Amino acid sequence: MKLLVTGGAGFIGSNFVRRALNDQLPGIEGAEIIVLDALTYSGVRENLDPIADSPRYEFVHGDICDAELLDKLMPRVDGVVHFAAESHVDRSVRDSSIFFETNVIGTQRLLDAALKHGIDRFVHVSTDEVYGSIEEGEWTEEWPLEPNSPYAASKAGSDLVARSYHRTHGMNISITRCSNNYGPYHFPEKLIPLFVTNLLDDKHVPLYGTGENVRDWLHVDDHCRGIALVYTKGRAGEVYNIGGGTQLTNVEITKKILELMGKDWSYVDHVEDRKGHDLRYCVDITKIQNELGYEPQVPFEQGLANVVQWYRDRRDWWEPLKERAALEG
Ligand code: NAD
Repeated sequence: MKLLVTGGAGFIGSNFVRRALNDQLPGIEGAEIIVLDALTYSGVRENLDPIADSPRYEFVHGDICDAELLDKLMPRVDGVVHFAAESHVDRSVRDSSIFFETNVIGTQRLLDAALKHGIDRFVHVSTDEVYGSIEEGEWTEEWPLEPNSPYAASKAGSDLVARSYHRTHGMNISITRCSNNYGPYHFPEKLIPLFVTNLLDDKHVPLYGTGENVRDWLHVDDHCRGIALVYTKGRAGEVYNIGGGTQLTNVEITKKILELMGKDWSYVDHVEDRKGHDLRYCVDITKIQNELGYEPQVPFEQGLANVVQWYRDRRDWWEPLKERAALEG
């Protein structure tokens, strides 16, 4: 099996690549991997250092929008796992152009190249945010797409492009929609790593609005195992939700982080809410459980404690990223 993994230097993609090359993902043991990554602000080549010497790994610095490059890479692989995206909602609120270029046009270019070269299998990694916000209950995969942020709209657009390539061309494509991931190597602009790294520096943490927004938390290891199951056993043209089974308000998760870090609520600054902030996300994962035997395995309390410890140990990883992000404003 030879895979092209786009966005493999990012948070989730690099976890997938590290685990795949360490034969920790069911069904894709022994796979060779070409990572294609543009190394945008959130792409960190060092995320792949632990497997950099693997003879089954190759890194290509390039853009998923580059059709010529894709033409050269596709004949060398038989499958694609597509993570590359602009992924931060707040950035899409400030300026959404690059979100539509990368997430929609980039996905279309990739699918076109995969079609042209007769790629056997394509998994498109998406998000539960395409469903919008749900006050109660859970989204099944049949839920209408009602994205609220420009980020979510661009991901919904990419999902529809992927669906259309299956329907029109019969391509063997599945789409995954996961909840909020957490884990090591998470870029320190997202809630958990931002709060943990701020507190490690004895700084305050910014909590949006009242903090009543509810998210389901999914450990990145569980997510990548779910993606591997979908890659090997998922049905063509189908969508699979992937969740972690731990729903918390932002106030609740903030309290857990403060407790783990030995800090109190005085470190929390209530800041103006994010524009159009979705109140609640919650995915129904019955389909992937019943069809593919997926279950989240990392207990949240354990996973969070390990993440806190990872950021304590890896100042060398996150400090330069935060400094660079601050300089870029
Ligand atoms: P990330 O921002 O950490 O990584 C994205 C990677 O894509 C980076 O390495 C970046 O350099 C690369 N990239 C961006 N534009 C590119 C381009 N034009 N060509 C090639 N590479 C490019 O994101 P992540 O958190 O790892 O998310 C991965 C995927 O999972 C995304 O598709 C995202 O929408 C989805 N997702 C993430 C979460 C989450 O909680 N993090 C939740 C649901 C879905």
